Amino acid sequence: MGTLSIVATPIGNLEDITLRALRTLKECDVIYAEDTRVISKLLARYEIKKPLQRLDAATEAKKADEVIGRLEAGEHVAFVSDAGTPGISDPGSRLVAAVREQLPGATIEAIPGASALTAALSIAGLGSDGFTFLGFLPHKKGRQTALKGIVASELPVVLYESPHRILKLLEELGALGVARITIARELTKMHEEIVSGTVVEAQAHFAAHPDAVRGEFVVIIEP
Ligand code: SAM
Repeated sequence: MGTLSIVATPIGNLEDITLRALRTLKECDVIYAEDTRVISKLLARYEIKKPLQRLDAATEAKKADEVIGRLEAGEHVAFVSDAGTPGISDPGSRLVAAVREQLPGATIEAIPGASALTAALSIAGLGSDGFTFLGFLPHKKGRQTALKGIVASELPVVLYESPHRILKLLEELGALGVARITIARELTKMHEEIVSGTVVEAQAHFAAHPDAVRGEFVVIIEP
């Protein structure tokens, strides 16, 4: 029976990859990737040449069957998402669940590494009493309920957000009376930036620096 390695990759800076992740990507038989073009840049940087297959959110169920076939044949399969840890607001969970259910004898191993979630929390300077991670909020149905839950939370709430909706999110949080937030933008990249303060201060920051409404965001709402 084969092995499925779930491999974390960098969230920006290509140096943020573990020695074990590199060895796994070098030693496996095939790499399944959320987007083969994205992972090709990482593989080129580390001179790794491997057969690549695509497995994204739309094809996860179908491709899981293919992966199961390979594991039955004794292959070592690695899975990587576009950035960070697979299964964290990324494909991977359904693949793991399918393999666990249909092939209990297969080894599923985590190759841990970067995640925007833990990177942001590590420099937010919040207490260590726990947190709630919600990933991306729903865009329409369920959004208001989720926002109200965030405001009522006694723990910090961590969200992922895109540049298209970050200003809208700030407006919504401000209207619901949220006081303090930390926004981690473009972590590990050239334009990495932390904005910490009141919602009004964050809005003023983005109004003064429209260029900063770009890239990838983690938003931490303080209780
Ligand atoms: N699996 C990834 C992880 O472990 O963090 C998350 C993938 S999710 C599709 C992408 C979202 O993660 C982005 O929209 C952003 O909210 C957050 N993200 C990813 N990379 C980031 C970075 N370098 N800086 C800030 N946020 C980031």
